[in-house]
Amino acid sequence: CGIVGAVSTRNIVPVLVQGLQRLEYRGYDSCGVAVHEASLDGRQPGGLRRARSTARVAELVEQVASEQVQGATGIAHTRWATHGAPAVHNAHPHFSAGPGVADVQAVGRVALVHNGIIENHEALRSELQAKGYQFLSQTDTEVIAHLVDSHYDGDLFTALQQAIKSLRGAYAIAVMHKDEPHRVVGARAGSPLILGVGNNENFLASDAMALAGVTDQIVYLAEGDMVDLQIGRYWVVDHNGKTMEAADRPVKTVH
Ligand code: GLU
Repeated sequence: CGIVGAVSTRNIVPVLVQGLQRLEYRGYDSCGVAVHEASLDGRQPGGLRRARSTARVAELVEQVASEQVQGATGIAHTRWATHGAPAVHNAHPHFSAGPGVADVQAVGRVALVHNGIIENHEALRSELQAKGYQFLSQTDTEVIAHLVDSHYDGDLFTALQQAIKSLRGAYAIAVMHKDEPHRVVGARAGSPLILGVGNNENFLASDAMALAGVTDQIVYLAEGDMVDLQIGRYWVVDHNGKTMEAADRPVKTVH
């Protein structure tokens, strides 16, 4: 339903959950946020952490405060369930810990949020289960997290690019990886996704309204685009794999 993501140099959790609050009017049954805890100087390697709730975003705000979920890179989601009942274990972000690992919460490698529907999720689930991936939800989304993990070879952009080749359906996706603490990668096909350009920080959202008060510098992604967010820089790549120039995907000021 709603997506917000960020690569920044400050604790970005307040911006992420505010973004979710701005998207609440669209309706949702659960919500969640995941961050990378790594420090900017690299001294604390950190890892992926998340908080999820079937209550209001306001309760998620209390949860992240009491559990001290903080990080400069993160993704957040409000879910409107299509596959799998509204429940905490089905709420996004979904994690993949790699094949054969049951305790995903402790050792998540991939964290992912998704809007839309993956039509071939059953076939993909069977293939991934055969490779040893353990599924902890009934969502169509969880297959994308494991699919990205299965393609990961040190570069998250390439992994998502490979993964989406197998997807049938509609999606806006934002994903992060444990080994790349200052990076969020996104893709859109059939569901909206925009890029927000800030001051040494970049954002993703399903709707520019989620970034009101954070940045008014918006790049509207085209159907089939992928986007690579890092600290203070970003790249947009079109459905042919061609890197877009500024003139191809201009930054627009929204009011
Ligand atoms: N199909 C996904 C799910 O049910 C995403 C739904 C949404 O767009 O919020 O978890």
